[in-house]
Amino acid sequence: MGGKKLHNHNNNNNGAVDTNSNNSNRNGTTTTTTTTVKPPPVTLQQSPIINLDRGDPSVFEPYWRKNGGKCTITISGHDSLSYFSDPNSVCWYMEPELQEAIRRVHRVVGNAETEGCHVVAGTGSTVLFQAALYALSTSSSSSVAAEPMKVVCAAPYYSQYKEQVELLQSRLYEWGGDAETFDGSAAPFIEVVTSPNNPDGSLREAAVANKTGNGKLIHDLAYYWPNYTPITRPADYDIMLFTLTKCTGHAGSRIGWALVKDVEVAKKMTTFMQITTIGVSKDSQLRAAKILNVVAEDFGYAGNDADKTFFGESRKLMAERWEKLREAVKDKKDVFTLPKYPKRYCNFSGRYFQPAPAFGWLECKEGCDASALMKAHNVLTRGGETFGVSSRYTRISMIGREEEFERFIERISGIQCVDEEDEEEEEEEEGLVVMNGNNGGDVIRLGNGTSNGHGKWLEQVEVQ
Ligand code: PMP
Repeated sequence: MGGKKLHNHNNNNNGAVDTNSNNSNRNGTTTTTTTTVKPPPVTLQQSPIINLDRGDPSVFEPYWRKNGGKCTITISGHDSLSYFSDPNSVCWYMEPELQEAIRRVHRVVGNAETEGCHVVAGTGSTVLFQAALYALSTSSSSSVAAEPMKVVCAAPYYSQYKEQVELLQSRLYEWGGDAETFDGSAAPFIEVVTSPNNPDGSLREAAVANKTGNGKLIHDLAYYWPNYTPITRPADYDIMLFTLTKCTGHAGSRIGWALVKDVEVAKKMTTFMQITTIGVSKDSQLRAAKILNVVAEDFGYAGNDADKTFFGESRKLMAERWEKLREAVKDKKDVFTLPKYPKRYCNFSGRYFQPAPAFGWLECKEGCDASALMKAHNVLTRGGETFGVSSRYTRISMIGREEEFERFIERISGIQCVDEEDEEEEEEEEGLVVMNGNNGGDVIRLGNGTSNGHGKWLEQVEVQ
Protein backbone atom coordinates (compact mmCIF):
# COMPACT_ATOMS: atom_id res chain seq x y z
CA MET A 1 0.00 0.00 0.00
CA GLY A 2 1.69 3.19 -1.12
CA GLY A 3 1.98 6.12 1.22
CA LYS A 4 1.65 9.66 -0.13
CA LYS A 5 3.50 12.82 0.82
CA LEU A 6 1.50 15.37 2.68
CA HIS A 7 2.51 18.77 3.96
CA ASN A 8 0.98 19.20 7.31
CA HIS A 9 0.80 22.84 8.39
CA ASN A 10 0.44 22.76 12.09
CA ASN A 11 -0.59 26.15 13.34
CA ASN A 12 0.22 26.66 16.94
CA ASN A 13 -3.00 26.62 18.92
CA ASN A 14 -1.63 28.33 21.94
CA GLY A 15 -3.48 31.49 21.05
CA ALA A 16 -4.92 34.05 23.37
CA VAL A 17 -8.17 32.24 23.86
CA ASP A 18 -8.65 29.00 25.71
CA THR A 19 -11.03 27.88 23.00
CA ASN A 20 -8.70 27.27 20.08
CA SER A 21 -8.52 23.88 18.48
CA ASN A 22 -5.51 21.78 19.13
CA ASN A 23 -3.62 21.15 15.94
CA SER A 24 -0.58 22.64 17.48
CA ASN A 25 2.99 22.16 18.18
CA ARG A 26 3.73 23.12 21.72
CA ASN A 27 6.75 25.31 21.60
CA GLY A 28 5.02 28.45 20.46
CA THR A 29 6.02 28.33 16.80
CA THR A 30 4.36 27.47 13.55
CA THR A 31 5.90 24.43 11.96
CA THR A 32 5.69 22.63 8.67
CA THR A 33 6.37 18.93 8.85
CA THR A 34 6.51 16.47 6.01
CA THR A 35 4.52 13.42 6.85
CA THR A 36 4.10 10.10 5.17
CA VAL A 37 0.49 9.19 5.51
CA LYS A 38 -1.53 6.21 4.54
CA PRO A 39 -5.17 7.25 4.14
CA PRO A 40 -6.88 6.58 7.45
CA PRO A 41 -9.22 3.62 7.55
CA VAL A 42 -12.73 4.53 6.51
CA THR A 43 -14.22 4.17 9.97
CA LEU A 44 -11.73 6.55 11.52
CA GLN A 45 -11.83 8.93 8.57
CA GLN A 46 -15.58 9.23 8.91
CA SER A 47 -15.70 9.54 12.66
CA PRO A 48 -16.36 13.16 13.50
CA ILE A 49 -13.69 15.19 15.19
CA ILE A 50 -14.41 15.63 18.87
CA ASN A 51 -12.96 18.86 20.15
CA LEU A 52 -12.17 18.61 23.86
CA ASP A 53 -9.37 21.12 23.62
CA ARG A 54 -11.66 24.03 24.32
CA GLY A 55 -12.51 25.28 27.78
CA ASP A 56 -15.80 26.64 26.45
CA PRO A 57 -18.41 26.20 29.17
CA SER A 58 -21.45 25.02 27.16
CA VAL A 59 -22.23 22.40 29.80
CA PHE A 60 -24.60 24.72 31.65
CA GLU A 61 -26.55 25.79 28.57
CA PRO A 62 -29.47 23.36 29.18
CA TYR A 63 -29.88 24.83 32.68
CA TRP A 64 -29.99 28.35 31.28
CA ARG A 65 -32.38 27.32 28.52
CA LYS A 66 -34.80 26.26 31.23
CA ASN A 67 -34.14 29.22 33.47
CA GLY A 68 -32.99 31.89 31.06
CA GLY A 69 -36.16 33.97 31.30
CA LYS A 70 -35.25 34.99 34.83
CA CYS A 71 -32.12 36.72 33.55
CA THR A 72 -33.69 38.90 30.89
CA ILE A 73 -32.84 42.58 31.15
CA THR A 74 -33.86 45.48 28.99
CA ILE A 75 -31.31 48.05 27.94
CA SER A 76 -32.85 51.00 26.17
CA GLY A 77 -31.21 53.39 23.75
CA HIS A 78 -30.49 56.03 26.35
CA ASP A 79 -28.80 53.63 28.81
CA SER A 80 -25.06 53.13 29.28
CA LEU A 81 -23.88 56.13 27.28
CA SER A 82 -21.22 57.34 29.67
CA TYR A 83 -17.82 55.80 30.31
CA PHE A 84 -18.40 56.40 33.99
CA SER A 85 -20.41 54.38 36.44
CA ASP A 86 -19.35 55.38 39.91
CA PRO A 87 -16.82 58.23 39.97
CA ASN A 88 -16.43 57.86 43.74
CA SER A 89 -15.35 54.23 43.57
CA VAL A 90 -11.74 53.07 43.02
CA CYS A 91 -13.04 51.15 39.99
CA TRP A 92 -14.93 54.10 38.54
CA TYR A 93 -16.22 52.26 35.45
CA MET A 94 -17.83 49.50 37.49
CA GLU A 95 -21.62 49.45 37.78
CA PRO A 96 -22.64 49.52 41.45
CA GLU A 97 -25.21 46.76 40.74
CA LEU A 98 -22.46 44.46 39.56
CA GLN A 99 -20.27 45.19 42.56
CA GLU A 100 -23.21 44.51 44.89
CA ALA A 101 -24.15 41.27 43.06
CA ILE A 102 -20.54 40.00 43.24
CA ARG A 103 -20.35 40.60 46.99
CA ARG A 104 -23.73 38.98 47.43
CA VAL A 105 -22.95 35.80 45.50
CA HIS A 106 -19.68 35.35 47.43
CA ARG A 107 -21.59 35.79 50.70
CA VAL A 108 -24.20 33.21 49.71
CA VAL A 109 -21.67 30.67 48.38
CA GLY A 110 -19.08 31.37 51.08
CA ASN A 111 -16.13 30.96 48.72
CA ALA A 112 -14.39 34.31 49.24
CA GLU A 113 -14.05 36.97 51.89
CA THR A 114 -15.08 40.27 50.32
CA GLU A 115 -15.04 42.39 53.46
CA GLY A 116 -12.27 44.97 53.19
CA CYS A 117 -11.67 44.13 49.50
CA HIS A 118 -11.92 46.47 46.53
CA VAL A 119 -13.64 45.00 43.50
CA VAL A 120 -12.09 45.64 40.09
CA ALA A 121 -14.05 44.57 37.00
CA GLY A 122 -12.46 43.23 33.84
CA THR A 123 -13.35 41.97 30.38
CA GLY A 124 -13.07 38.41 31.63
CA SER A 125 -10.48 37.65 34.28
CA THR A 126 -7.86 37.28 31.53
CA VAL A 127 -7.30 41.03 31.36
CA LEU A 128 -7.30 41.29 35.16
CA PHE A 129 -4.38 38.88 35.27
CA GLN A 130 -2.47 41.33 33.11
CA ALA A 131 -3.72 44.25 35.22
CA ALA A 132 -2.45 42.47 38.33
CA LEU A 133 0.95 41.82 36.73
CA TYR A 134 1.20 45.49 35.88
CA ALA A 135 0.17 46.57 39.38
CA LEU A 136 2.58 44.22 41.14
CA SER A 137 5.58 44.90 38.95
CA THR A 138 5.50 48.69 38.99
CA SER A 139 6.85 50.68 41.88
CA SER A 140 5.25 53.89 43.10
CA SER A 141 8.22 55.86 41.75
CA SER A 142 7.15 54.74 38.24
CA SER A 143 10.77 53.95 37.39
CA VAL A 144 11.28 50.63 35.62
CA ALA A 145 13.25 48.05 37.62
CA ALA A 146 16.66 46.98 36.30
CA GLU A 147 15.44 43.41 35.79
CA PRO A 148 11.95 42.31 34.76
CA MET A 149 10.16 40.59 37.61
CA LYS A 150 9.80 36.82 37.18
CA VAL A 151 6.29 35.38 37.02
CA VAL A 152 6.06 31.74 38.10
CA CYS A 153 3.40 29.10 38.60
CA ALA A 154 3.68 25.47 39.70
CA ALA A 155 3.49 23.05 36.76
CA PRO A 156 1.19 21.90 35.37
CA TYR A 157 0.05 25.50 34.98
CA TYR A 158 -2.74 27.11 32.96
CA SER A 159 -1.19 27.50 29.52
CA GLN A 160 -2.37 31.07 29.00
CA TYR A 161 -0.28 32.55 31.82
CA LYS A 162 2.99 32.03 29.97
CA GLU A 163 1.53 33.37 26.75
CA GLN A 164 0.10 36.45 28.39
CA VAL A 165 3.31 37.19 30.23
CA GLU A 166 5.37 36.84 27.06
CA LEU A 167 3.05 38.48 24.55
CA LEU A 168 4.28 42.06 24.82
CA GLN A 169 7.89 41.28 25.79
CA SER A 170 7.47 43.62 28.73
CA ARG A 171 10.35 45.20 30.58
CA LEU A 172 8.30 44.95 33.76
CA TYR A 173 7.95 41.17 34.01
CA GLU A 174 8.92 37.95 32.29
CA TRP A 175 8.01 34.28 32.49
CA GLY A 176 10.01 32.40 35.13
CA GLY A 177 8.50 28.92 34.62
CA ASP A 178 7.67 26.28 37.18
CA ALA A 179 7.35 27.69 40.72
CA GLU A 180 8.39 24.34 42.21
CA THR A 181 11.90 24.62 40.79
CA PHE A 182 12.21 28.39 41.02
CA ASP A 183 14.74 29.91 43.42
CA GLY A 184 12.79 32.75 44.94
CA SER A 185 15.51 33.89 47.30
CA ALA A 186 17.23 36.40 45.04
CA ALA A 187 14.70 39.01 43.97
CA PRO A 188 11.01 39.90 44.18
CA PHE A 189 8.80 37.78 41.95
CA ILE A 190 5.14 37.05 41.27
CA GLU A 191 3.62 33.63 41.87
CA VAL A 192 0.27 32.66 40.38
CA VAL A 193 -1.72 30.11 42.37
CA THR A 194 -4.63 28.49 40.56
CA SER A 195 -6.97 26.59 42.84
CA PRO A 196 -8.64 24.36 41.84
CA ASN A 197 -5.97 24.09 39.23
CA ASN A 198 -6.43 24.17 35.48
CA PRO A 199 -5.49 21.61 34.07
CA ASP A 200 -5.33 18.95 36.82
CA GLY A 201 -8.04 20.03 39.29
CA SER A 202 -5.70 19.97 42.32
CA LEU A 203 -6.24 22.30 45.25
CA ARG A 204 -3.20 24.46 45.71
CA GLU A 205 -1.37 26.86 47.96
CA ALA A 206 1.67 28.94 47.04
CA ALA A 207 4.63 26.72 46.15
CA VAL A 208 7.45 29.17 46.71
CA ALA A 209 6.22 32.66 47.63
CA ASN A 210 5.40 31.88 51.25
CA LYS A 211 8.81 30.25 51.80
CA THR A 212 11.00 33.13 50.70
CA GLY A 213 8.96 36.21 51.56
CA ASN A 214 10.00 37.71 48.21
CA GLY A 215 6.91 36.66 46.34
CA LYS A 216 3.78 38.60 45.53
CA LEU A 217 0.77 36.41 44.97
CA ILE A 218 -2.08 36.32 42.49
CA HIS A 219 -4.74 33.72 43.32
CA ASP A 220 -6.73 32.65 40.29
CA LEU A 221 -9.90 31.14 41.77
CA ALA A 222 -11.84 30.77 38.51
CA TYR A 223 -12.94 27.26 39.51
CA TYR A 224 -13.52 27.76 43.23
CA TRP A 225 -17.29 27.35 42.89
CA PRO A 226 -19.51 24.55 44.20
CA ASN A 227 -20.27 23.27 40.70
CA TYR A 228 -16.67 21.99 40.54
CA THR A 229 -15.38 21.58 44.06
CA PRO A 230 -16.51 21.52 47.70
CA ILE A 231 -16.35 24.99 49.25
CA THR A 232 -14.40 24.36 52.43
CA ARG A 233 -13.77 27.95 53.52
CA PRO A 234 -13.94 31.52 52.28
CA ALA A 235 -10.71 32.24 50.38
CA ASP A 236 -8.95 35.24 51.81
CA TYR A 237 -5.94 36.39 49.78
CA ASP A 238 -4.45 39.70 48.63
CA ILE A 239 -5.55 39.41 44.99
CA MET A 240 -8.26 36.92 44.00
CA LEU A 241 -9.45 36.57 40.42
CA PHE A 242 -12.89 35.23 39.52
CA THR A 243 -14.82 35.01 36.28
CA LEU A 244 -18.41 34.67 35.15
CA THR A 245 -17.05 32.30 32.48
CA LYS A 246 -16.62 29.41 34.88
CA CYS A 247 -18.99 30.49 37.63
CA THR A 248 -22.22 30.49 35.59
CA GLY A 249 -20.87 29.56 32.15
CA HIS A 250 -21.43 32.97 30.55
CA ALA A 251 -18.05 33.19 28.85
CA GLY A 252 -19.43 35.35 26.06
CA SER A 253 -20.36 38.20 28.39
CA ARG A 254 -16.64 38.59 29.13
CA ILE A 255 -16.98 39.61 32.75
CA GLY A 256 -14.41 38.88 35.42
CA TRP A 257 -13.56 40.51 38.71
CA ALA A 258 -10.68 40.87 41.12
CA LEU A 259 -11.04 41.12 44.89
CA VAL A 260 -8.09 43.21 45.99
CA LYS A 261 -7.07 44.08 49.54
CA ASP A 262 -4.54 46.84 48.92
CA VAL A 263 -6.18 50.00 47.63
CA GLU A 264 -2.99 51.04 45.78
CA VAL A 265 -2.94 47.75 43.88
CA ALA A 266 -6.66 48.13 43.08
CA LYS A 267 -6.00 51.65 41.77
CA LYS A 268 -3.16 50.47 39.55
CA MET A 269 -5.25 47.65 38.17
CA THR A 270 -7.97 50.18 37.39
CA THR A 271 -5.39 52.40 35.68
CA PHE A 272 -4.35 49.44 33.54
CA MET A 273 -7.98 48.93 32.52
CA GLN A 274 -8.41 52.65 31.89
CA ILE A 275 -5.39 52.83 29.60
CA THR A 276 -5.98 49.59 27.73
CA THR A 277 -9.78 49.57 27.32
CA ILE A 278 -11.28 52.59 29.20
CA GLY A 279 -13.34 50.26 31.32
CA VAL A 280 -15.63 47.32 30.68
CA SER A 281 -18.89 47.14 28.69
CA LYS A 282 -21.68 48.41 30.91
CA ASP A 283 -24.21 46.31 29.00
CA SER A 284 -22.26 43.19 29.93
CA GLN A 285 -21.87 44.37 33.50
CA LEU A 286 -25.62 44.84 33.87
CA ARG A 287 -26.32 41.42 32.40
CA ALA A 288 -23.72 39.83 34.67
CA ALA A 289 -25.24 41.59 37.70
CA LYS A 290 -28.64 40.16 36.81
CA ILE A 291 -27.30 36.63 36.33
CA LEU A 292 -25.34 36.71 39.59
CA ASN A 293 -28.37 38.02 41.46
CA VAL A 294 -30.52 35.23 40.00
CA VAL A 295 -27.92 32.68 41.10
CA ALA A 296 -27.69 34.19 44.59
CA GLU A 297 -31.48 34.39 44.98
CA ASP A 298 -31.84 30.77 43.83
CA PHE A 299 -30.97 29.62 47.30
CA GLY A 300 -34.04 31.28 48.78
CA TYR A 301 -36.33 30.13 45.95
CA ALA A 302 -35.13 26.56 46.37
CA GLY A 303 -36.28 26.61 50.02
CA ASN A 304 -32.63 26.73 51.03
CA ASP A 305 -32.08 23.36 49.35
CA ALA A 306 -28.66 23.81 47.77
CA ASP A 307 -29.21 20.83 45.43
CA LYS A 308 -31.98 22.73 43.64
CA THR A 309 -29.95 25.85 43.01
CA PHE A 310 -27.93 26.59 39.89
CA PHE A 311 -24.80 25.40 41.69
CA GLY A 312 -26.52 22.26 42.97
CA GLU A 313 -27.86 21.30 39.56
CA SER A 314 -24.64 22.07 37.77
CA ARG A 315 -22.64 20.12 40.36
CA LYS A 316 -24.88 17.12 39.67
CA LEU A 317 -24.25 17.49 35.96
CA MET A 318 -20.48 17.67 36.43
CA ALA A 319 -20.55 14.70 38.83
CA GLU A 320 -22.50 12.64 36.27
CA ARG A 321 -19.94 13.41 33.58
CA TRP A 322 -17.11 12.43 35.86
CA GLU A 323 -18.82 9.19 36.76
CA LYS A 324 -19.19 8.34 33.07
CA LEU A 325 -15.57 9.23 32.38
CA ARG A 326 -14.26 7.19 35.30
CA GLU A 327 -16.41 4.25 34.27
CA ALA A 328 -15.11 4.43 30.68
CA VAL A 329 -11.48 4.81 31.78
CA LYS A 330 -11.75 1.98 34.33
CA ASP A 331 -11.04 -0.63 31.66
CA LYS A 332 -8.25 1.45 30.15
CA LYS A 333 -5.73 1.42 32.98
CA ASP A 334 -3.11 0.15 30.57
CA VAL A 335 -3.69 3.23 28.39
CA PHE A 336 -4.38 6.11 30.75
CA THR A 337 -5.37 7.01 34.28
CA LEU A 338 -7.13 9.94 35.92
CA PRO A 339 -6.28 11.71 39.17
CA LYS A 340 -8.30 10.81 42.27
CA TYR A 341 -9.82 13.56 44.37
CA PRO A 342 -10.78 12.98 48.01
CA LYS A 343 -14.28 13.82 49.20
CA ARG A 344 -14.54 16.98 51.26
CA TYR A 345 -17.32 18.69 53.14
CA CYS A 346 -18.87 21.56 51.21
CA ASN A 347 -20.18 24.35 53.42
CA PHE A 348 -22.42 25.61 50.65
CA SER A 349 -24.23 22.38 49.87
CA GLY A 350 -24.00 20.85 53.36
CA ARG A 351 -22.67 17.53 52.04
CA TYR A 352 -19.47 15.65 51.33
CA PHE A 353 -18.62 15.24 47.69
CA GLN A 354 -15.72 14.57 45.37
CA PRO A 355 -14.48 17.43 43.21
CA ALA A 356 -15.65 17.27 39.59
CA PRO A 357 -13.14 19.55 37.85
CA ALA A 358 -13.78 21.37 34.59
CA PHE A 359 -11.00 19.35 32.95
CA GLY A 360 -9.92 15.73 32.96
CA TRP A 361 -6.17 15.26 33.22
CA LEU A 362 -5.24 12.03 31.52
CA GLU A 363 -1.89 10.41 32.20
CA CYS A 364 -0.54 7.85 29.74
CA LYS A 365 2.31 5.49 30.40
CA GLU A 366 5.91 6.55 29.99
CA GLY A 367 6.88 7.23 26.37
CA CYS A 368 3.34 7.72 25.10
CA ASP A 369 2.33 11.09 23.67
CA ALA A 370 -1.16 11.42 25.11
CA SER A 371 -2.56 14.18 22.88
CA ALA A 372 -1.16 12.48 19.73
CA LEU A 373 -2.82 9.26 20.82
CA MET A 374 -6.13 11.08 21.21
CA LYS A 375 -5.64 12.93 17.95
CA ALA A 376 -5.21 9.62 16.16
CA HIS A 377 -8.75 8.90 17.28
CA ASN A 378 -9.98 12.28 16.07
CA VAL A 379 -10.17 13.62 19.61
CA LEU A 380 -8.55 17.02 20.05
CA THR A 381 -7.13 17.61 23.51
CA ARG A 382 -4.41 19.86 24.91
CA GLY A 383 -1.10 18.14 25.54
CA GLY A 384 0.94 18.29 28.74
CA GLU A 385 3.83 20.29 27.25
CA THR A 386 1.50 23.28 26.87
CA PHE A 387 1.09 23.18 30.65
CA GLY A 388 4.81 22.85 31.34
CA VAL A 389 4.88 19.06 31.87
CA SER A 390 5.44 15.87 29.89
CA SER A 391 3.54 14.90 26.74
CA ARG A 392 2.40 11.80 28.65
CA TYR A 393 -0.38 14.02 29.94
CA THR A 394 -3.24 15.61 28.13
CA ARG A 395 -6.19 17.75 29.17
CA ILE A 396 -9.75 17.10 28.10
CA SER A 397 -12.56 19.54 28.58
CA MET A 398 -15.42 18.30 30.75
CA ILE A 399 -17.52 21.39 30.17
CA GLY A 400 -18.37 21.16 26.48
CA ARG A 401 -21.62 20.15 24.86
CA GLU A 402 -23.42 16.99 25.93
CA GLU A 403 -23.38 15.30 22.48
CA GLU A 404 -19.66 15.82 22.08
CA PHE A 405 -18.94 14.50 25.57
CA GLU A 406 -21.13 11.42 25.00
CA ARG A 407 -19.39 10.71 21.69
CA PHE A 408 -16.06 10.89 23.46
CA ILE A 409 -17.18 8.42 26.12
CA GLU A 410 -18.17 5.99 23.35
CA ARG A 411 -14.89 6.47 21.56
CA ILE A 412 -12.74 5.77 24.61
CA SER A 413 -13.33 2.03 24.34
CA GLY A 414 -11.46 1.93 20.99
CA ILE A 415 -8.31 3.62 22.25
CA GLN A 416 -5.32 1.41 22.83
CA CYS A 417 -1.65 1.91 23.52
CA VAL A 418 0.75 -1.01 23.13
CA ASP A 419 4.34 -1.71 24.02
CA GLU A 420 6.86 -1.53 21.22
CA GLU A 421 7.74 -5.26 21.50
CA ASP A 422 4.13 -6.35 21.09
CA GLU A 423 3.55 -4.12 18.13
CA GLU A 424 4.84 -6.13 15.17
CA GLU A 425 3.41 -9.36 16.46
CA GLU A 426 -0.04 -7.86 16.93
CA GLU A 427 0.11 -6.10 13.61
CA GLU A 428 0.70 -9.37 11.83
CA GLU A 429 -1.85 -11.32 13.81
CA GLU A 430 -4.69 -8.87 13.72
CA GLY A 431 -4.07 -6.75 10.64
CA LEU A 432 -4.27 -3.53 12.58
CA VAL A 433 -2.92 -0.14 11.59
CA VAL A 434 0.09 0.93 13.59
CA MET A 435 0.63 4.60 14.24
CA ASN A 436 4.12 5.41 15.30
CA GLY A 437 6.85 7.94 15.34
CA ASN A 438 8.84 6.84 12.31
CA ASN A 439 8.38 7.77 8.73
CA GLY A 440 8.50 4.54 6.81
CA GLY A 441 6.11 2.32 4.96
CA ASP A 442 2.48 1.87 5.69
CA VAL A 443 2.25 3.93 8.83
CA ILE A 444 0.55 7.08 9.87
CA ARG A 445 3.04 9.37 11.45
CA LEU A 446 1.57 11.25 14.35
CA GLY A 447 2.64 14.33 16.18
CA ASN A 448 4.23 17.45 14.89
CA GLY A 449 7.93 17.05 15.24
CA THR A 450 8.02 17.74 18.97
CA SER A 451 6.98 14.28 20.02
CA ASN A 452 9.71 12.30 21.73
CA GLY A 453 9.15 9.58 19.13
CA HIS A 454 9.28 6.73 21.63
CA GLY A 455 5.57 6.10 21.70
CA LYS A 456 3.88 3.41 19.65
CA TRP A 457 0.15 3.51 19.24
CA LEU A 458 -2.36 1.11 17.93
CA GLU A 459 -5.63 1.99 16.28
CA GLN A 460 -8.23 -0.76 16.53
CA VAL A 461 -9.61 -0.57 13.03
CA GLU A 462 -9.06 -2.82 10.07
CA VAL A 463 -6.58 -2.01 7.33
CA GLN A 464 -8.43 -1.25 4.17
N1 PMP B 1 -8.09 31.52 34.71
C1 PMP B 1 -8.24 30.22 34.46
C2 PMP B 1 -7.55 29.25 35.33
C3 PMP B 1 -9.01 29.81 33.37
O1 PMP B 1 -9.11 28.49 33.11
C4 PMP B 1 -9.64 30.78 32.56
C5 PMP B 1 -10.49 30.37 31.39
N2 PMP B 1 -10.10 29.29 30.70
C6 PMP B 1 -9.44 32.10 32.86
C7 PMP B 1 -8.67 32.45 33.94
C8 PMP B 1 -9.97 33.21 32.00
O2 PMP B 1 -11.32 33.30 31.90
P1 PMP B 1 -12.04 34.55 31.25
O3 PMP B 1 -11.07 35.47 30.62
O4 PMP B 1 -13.02 33.99 30.30
O5 PMP B 1 -12.69 35.25 32.39
